[in-house]
Amino acid sequence: MSNSAKTLTPDPATSGRDKQKTEVGSVFVSNYPPYSFWNQDDVEKALAAFQQPGDINTPLGLYMHIPFCRKRCKFCYFKVYTGKNSDEIQNYLDGLAREIELYAEIPAVSNRAIDFVYFGGGTPSFISVKHLKWLVERATSVLPWTKAREVAFECEPGTLSRSKLEAIKEIGVTRLSLGVEHFNDDILRENGRAHLSKEIYKVKSWIEEQQFDQLNVDLISGMVGENWDSWKDTVQKTIDYDPDSVTIYQLELPFNAVYSRDMRSGNAGNLVLADWNLKREWHAYAIEAFEAAGYAISSAYTMLKKDQKSNFVYRDSLWRGADMIATGVASFGHMDGIHFQNSSSWNEYLSAIESGKLPVNRAFSTTKDERLTRELILQLKLGAISSSYFQDKFDADIHKVFAEPFQRLKDQGLLSIENGTISLTREALLKVDELLPEFYAETYRDSRYT
Ligand code: SF4
Repeated sequence: MSNSAKTLTPDPATSGRDKQKTEVGSVFVSNYPPYSFWNQDDVEKALAAFQQPGDINTPLGLYMHIPFCRKRCKFCYFKVYTGKNSDEIQNYLDGLAREIELYAEIPAVSNRAIDFVYFGGGTPSFISVKHLKWLVERATSVLPWTKAREVAFECEPGTLSRSKLEAIKEIGVTRLSLGVEHFNDDILRENGRAHLSKEIYKVKSWIEEQQFDQLNVDLISGMVGENWDSWKDTVQKTIDYDPDSVTIYQLELPFNAVYSRDMRSGNAGNLVLADWNLKREWHAYAIEAFEAAGYAISSAYTMLKKDQKSNFVYRDSLWRGADMIATGVASFGHMDGIHFQNSSSWNEYLSAIESGKLPVNRAFSTTKDERLTRELILQLKLGAISSSYFQDKFDADIHKVFAEPFQRLKDQGLLSIENGTISLTREALLKVDELLPEFYAETYRDSRYT
């Protein structure tokens, strides 16, 4: 899962309908204010922010979007291409490397070290060893990441080989994130995944040989065809696979997914989708099973092995307002209070870079209040927040600023406040994305997300 086109708020088209049914539209929140408010007028502000010397006290990340996949999963809504040949991939990587070179020269970046790196997609492991090494050599010659606390890399099992894993280790990757999603072959096939379970097992020993600091496995609760038996089996097989951390998403159907298009055009046949209650029951079951196996909750979606040194630097930095250079088609970034997104058109993206311009296509200049809300809602996904953090950083008393939503959630038994710590119950954590719009400013409520 990448940072590209990932955040969605309840859509007006689905609001008011049965909230428990899985319908087209989505609730996943990964940024604020909603993308539908980002605009071309603020692009100038983003470009101006790039020309200011960067704040060396704010962590700076580098995100690279590798938008290629072997096949399009039927639930996928990311910017991905499945038919590009080697020359087209080289052409894209050339643009990506050039974009990184352009960033390396801007004042907001040139005085700072890269603190975290994220290869997202798409499928970063789709590209060849030759392409990967070429890209990294060019990128690190201008933006070295030797001081980065984390280099994360997303993989699809069927694209990995022993030599590719060696190369991935060689470029400094600390966290390998394996997109398993499920262990049941019928479910993998039905949902359009490119890999099957035998490929997940085939790569295990090769991954272990490389001794990455952290192996993460991604799962999805509620894929089409899921039932209690298949889910329990997948949870057990994941425990046996023994990753350092596990990320669990609840299946959503944003507008541009294949399943969503089929449903809207009446071509979905007898597609059976678990409702939100059932997906959360499956998610809750998995959390308990992982806890029993020695993992602890790290956020609404992640479980981390106890006594595990590694963590989620990319996630925690972004949720605490880090700056991030976003490179690649449709990528999302942030610099000095300004959100920005690259063009989501292949041709526009590449031709902007060819003419020496950063391909930023829309942006949003946030106010201090919006940054406060953004950090608060994102950090609530950790399950607990401390009011002193917000007092120190924003000079804001969140007990007063968010008194109403806190009280509403408290009245519903979803939240408790003790000694300056605001904690969500497990029930609340399992549906945290549905609750977060409670904290939005009036202007942004009930709005279309993208
Ligand atoms: S692997 Fe599937 S879900 Fe992931 S980006 Fe590619 S098409 Fe989308």
